[in-house]
Amino acid sequence: MSEKPNTASKVIKNDPWFGSYASRAESMRASEIRALFAVANRPEVVSLAGGMPYLERMPFGELSELIAKMMVDKGDVAWQYGSAQGDQHLREDVLQIMELENIKDVQPDDVVIVNGSQSGLDLITRIMCNPGDVVLAEAPNYVGALGVFQSFQVDVVNVLLDKDGLIPEAFEQAIIEQHKLGKQVKFLYTVPNFHNPAGATMSEERRPKILEIAQRYHVLIVEDNPYGLLSFKGKTYPALRSLDAENVVYLSSFSKIIAPGMRVAWMVAPPGIRHKLVLANESAILCPSNMSQMTVTTYLDNFDWKSQINDYRGMYKERCDTMDAALREYLPYCSWHKPEGGFYIWLQIPDGLDSRAMLPRAITAKVAYVAGTAFYNNGQGTDHMRLSFCYPTPERIHEGIRRLSTVIDAERET
Ligand code: PMP
Repeated sequence: MSEKPNTASKVIKNDPWFGSYASRAESMRASEIRALFAVANRPEVVSLAGGMPYLERMPFGELSELIAKMMVDKGDVAWQYGSAQGDQHLREDVLQIMELENIKDVQPDDVVIVNGSQSGLDLITRIMCNPGDVVLAEAPNYVGALGVFQSFQVDVVNVLLDKDGLIPEAFEQAIIEQHKLGKQVKFLYTVPNFHNPAGATMSEERRPKILEIAQRYHVLIVEDNPYGLLSFKGKTYPALRSLDAENVVYLSSFSKIIAPGMRVAWMVAPPGIRHKLVLANESAILCPSNMSQMTVTTYLDNFDWKSQINDYRGMYKERCDTMDAALREYLPYCSWHKPEGGFYIWLQIPDGLDSRAMLPRAITAKVAYVAGTAFYNNGQGTDHMRLSFCYPTPERIHEGIRRLSTVIDAERET
């Protein structure tokens, strides 16, 4: 198998601009996941790599008819520039979604619409961090957030998490250590629900503890919550933002509950930060796309989105159950915690094996995953891999884990 995923920072040969780039461009790296895409998406490969939502249950036909009508009836708005803060109608609509996570005190003016949460992470880092500033983040960490932090030359300090999410004592300790070094912590970045990649959820007992520590040390929390509504048992956890309006910047997205292709997400922030976010959005993109935002409102206004989310929950639960059962059948000597929701299982492989080194052999065996190293900024993670159960059917998941076991079994024997 000659095609290897390219995860290195690519150097273009004979680039006449070599030497001219800003240092922040030098620190940009290709995500290991994007680099895997081409290989993992070949039909013969069972991809347990990407976190792509399964969209075949979307009512594309009916929705497209309504969108076509909207583009004509409201064409003067849909095809036009819009507000840098985002469409008012959509900013009203997202309030009902946040109510499901107990966020009840938000007004449309507190909301900023962004080009996907990814863009929101870029904006909050842009307005809060200078090069060399410290951000605390769960380790392992969402790879896209790591990419943003790297591109702003931020020092990411890892804080441990376990199956109940971020560990409060480790959070406080990390702040104290940074203070001893004379550093302020600009914010804590956390994915409290159905973490990517760890699958962990911050327990209800830990949430007020984390908030209390953040308040005591005046550390902002950036709560990234794209999976919160995708709990398998239907339990929604109270968002950190629902417990503290002053110290939390909240981010959520339509990518996992409707479709990522629209690139629509939203942020809620205290007034000063919100004001800066709108300015940053304007300078980065002028305004979020009216067409995309109006596509979302057309969907929300005309379809039973709550049932659709319930339907997704059931589907992802079945896929997670299948992966868990297949792991118990084929890889009982590995360890993992079965998640309560979301898209991912974080698998620990036996001591001495290296998930990154093994990946080309897995691709040869026609199964793909993301090596644990993608989720750390310091080379850790060789003993883990992220397995996504969101996209392949249960049959493919079962087969994928079987193939993976042949690779891991062979590694153990060498
Ligand atoms: N945050 C997390 C934790 C994610 O898993 C993802 C997508 N994989 C994002 C943000 C980015 O989502 P969006 O499509 O809204 O940019």
